[in-house]
Amino acid sequence: MAEMIEIDWKTIKLQIIVVFVVLLILMVWYAVIRLEWQNPVVTLNMKYPAVGPEQKLSFSVSDTGIGLRKVWVGIIKDGRETVLSEKNYPTPGFFGGKAVYEDIVKLTIEPKKLNISDGDAVLRLEVRDFAWHGWLNGNKTLIEKEVKIDTVPPTITVLSKTHAVVQGGSCLAIYKLSKPCPVTGIYVGKNFFPGYSGYFKDPNTYLAFFAANYDQGTETLSVSVTDFGGNNSTVPLPGYVLKRTFKRDTISLSQNFMARKVAEFNVDMPKNVSVVEKFLKINSDLRKKNNDLFESAWKKTEKDMLWDGHFVRLARSESQASFADHRDYRYDGETIDKQVHLGVDLASVAHAPINAANRGKVILAEFVGIYGNTVIIDHGFGLMSTYSHLSSFDVREGQTVVKGEIIGRTGTTGLAGGDHLHFGILVHNLFVNPAEWWDATWVKGNVLNKINAVKLMN
Ligand SMILES: [Zn+2]
Repeated sequence: MAEMIEIDWKTIKLQIIVVFVVLLILMVWYAVIRLEWQNPVVTLNMKYPAVGPEQKLSFSVSDTGIGLRKVWVGIIKDGRETVLSEKNYPTPGFFGGKAVYEDIVKLTIEPKKLNISDGDAVLRLEVRDFAWHGWLNGNKTLIEKEVKIDTVPPTITVLSKTHAVVQGGSCLAIYKLSKPCPVTGIYVGKNFFPGYSGYFKDPNTYLAFFAANYDQGTETLSVSVTDFGGNNSTVPLPGYVLKRTFKRDTISLSQNFMARKVAEFNVDMPKNVSVVEKFLKINSDLRKKNNDLFESAWKKTEKDMLWDGHFVRLARSESQASFADHRDYRYDGETIDKQVHLGVDLASVAHAPINAANRGKVILAEFVGIYGNTVIIDHGFGLMSTYSHLSSFDVREGQTVVKGEIIGRTGTTGLAGGDHLHFGILVHNLFVNPAEWWDATWVKGNVLNKINAVKLMN
């Protein structure tokens, strides 16, 4: 029996060595994985470095190595640390099975509930991964951001006195805030007109040009402001919207005009579609698209008052159509369309030189559909003048022009019958009645005197 259980020590030794080497290789391999040096990546999106009464905070965390271990969020105020959020991720398995490599952390900070007072604080984000660095605590990414805790709503003091605005008319409001606010302006019904600082010595004094649409209801006016922490304040603006009536007008479309213009616009419709349908597509769809371009022009406005005095109209011209004329388009004895005319048509001689209505900067000089060749001059703080149906341009985009400078010539481009200038005034995103801006008495009483009165107070 003894020779049957003789042990082959040589083989066993070899097997042990093989197992040991394999284990060693695996351990080294795992250690290499766990000893990665890639720090987790944290992306914090905060619009402003401020924490309001209910501050929403969102940030993304990711790790390209072994996986995320822990996210810690805290706020340090007056040397005291308050934990806002703590999140632990599952341990990755030997082969990295369940590791979390990316996450989005969302939380709401309510300073009052946490007993944190207003003032300067530091927001701290710490993210660790499952690597063995840092005494097995993992690679660490730390973000410390200085923030201002602010839970007090701003106060508004309206400095301008009267704000009576006629339907289709313009107005100016001036107000002072208790602190800087990124969003401030005037509400006329649902229309919001942003206010701007930087004109008065006091940086917390804002001015806002606003207007009532031609069909504006008699809604109340209000000043609405929101500070960096999201605290909102709204106060009524003393004033009202006055109703007025607008003219009705009939535009008779000749067969010749229809054929010519429809051909010019090259409408993308089948050949058998009638000339009327093609015209309607131009007069409604294209008009809407073109109006959208005007309504977004204010985004380029300068935060400065570039103009002075009243605006000038086309020299030696006659008005052919007024602002907010309610037009019936008649063709072949029938009313085929209705539109509201959002400018004033001025006619002089053919190819008459057009003067800049006031000092400003050319923010557009190009062909704009039914408006034809068009120039938009920005006068600053959301006030702009527009010139359409030009036969030629004398200015380029980006150019500064003085009052009276020739910017182009009148013409018939776009949906114009005869040679004329279609002149418009925009207050922010709304076309208004230019007649007010041509009237020196109106400009003085409604704009310049208001500004001067505030200048004297400040
Ligand atoms: Zn017109």
